[in-house]
Amino acid sequence: MPYPTPIEWTDATWTTAGGCSLVGPECTHCYAQKLSGTRLKHHPLYAGTTVQGKAGPVFNGHLTQAADNADVWTWPLRWRGAKKPKLGPGKPSLIFVDDMSDLFHEDRKRGVIDRTVQTIIHSRHIGQFLTKRPDVMFRFFRDQFPASHPQWPLLLSHAWLGFSAGGQRWFDERWPYMRELAAMGFTIFCSYEPAIGPLDLPKDFLMLGKRAQLIAGGESGKEPRPSHPDWFRRARDQCQDAGVAFFFKQWGEFQPTDVFGAGEGDPCVDGQWFARVGKKAAGRHLDGVEHDGFPEVQ
Ligand code: SF4
Repeated sequence: MPYPTPIEWTDATWTTAGGCSLVGPECTHCYAQKLSGTRLKHHPLYAGTTVQGKAGPVFNGHLTQAADNADVWTWPLRWRGAKKPKLGPGKPSLIFVDDMSDLFHEDRKRGVIDRTVQTIIHSRHIGQFLTKRPDVMFRFFRDQFPASHPQWPLLLSHAWLGFSAGGQRWFDERWPYMRELAAMGFTIFCSYEPAIGPLDLPKDFLMLGKRAQLIAGGESGKEPRPSHPDWFRRARDQCQDAGVAFFFKQWGEFQPTDVFGAGEGDPCVDGQWFARVGKKAAGRHLDGVEHDGFPEVQ
């Protein structure tokens, strides 16, 4: 189901699949899980996909997809695009595909992934496919689209492939699969959000230049974890030096402050104090600048 979205780095979201299971601490405050078990729990895509845990709903591994004849399957083909596309006037619109689950969950039916990808590549838009399971994503594209496949030009111009990495450990685990996809010619993005640890970007990611994007941001929600500004500065500087698009999404709930112990319970990370001011007030300036970088359209 398509939703208007406040997500800064896309023009729309489109959901063909539901359900997931947690892969680690980056998933702790997953908004898809929360929505699937609360506001949307009676929607056919999300019903039965969570159980009630101590801190709220938790994905239980039950996976769903839109009914075969549901209108949602053809929405990207019918949508005329955003009035003001994030990429600029006259450019394609961006669709964040399946933001309410991980399309590349290891138990997802291949037919669901294939239909979702096929719909996007036959639309006039660009699909942003984001996963925490790049091994599954890599195997899907390798097996489904062998080297001489006639759809390669469509794929490369309509599918941007992304992976999440909340810090170095996750980047290093996932990058080898994404590197293979980059070698196939795809535009690659990394969602360093929520940033829960530092990140040093490897040379072979930076070498992608305008064919790559790093989206960085802190955590919002009820129990956010603060992100040190130096983590973001390092990523920004590395991207800028290499010509990689850098997008700073948000600080999240916490804003760095020079005021010692700005509020009761406000945290300190590596000598940096944070004040809990809320997502809106914390804003999305890094050292006074908004960073809205996108990769080049292929
Ligand atoms: S992989 Fe994504 S959708 Fe699945 S639980 Fe983790 S954050 Fe949520």
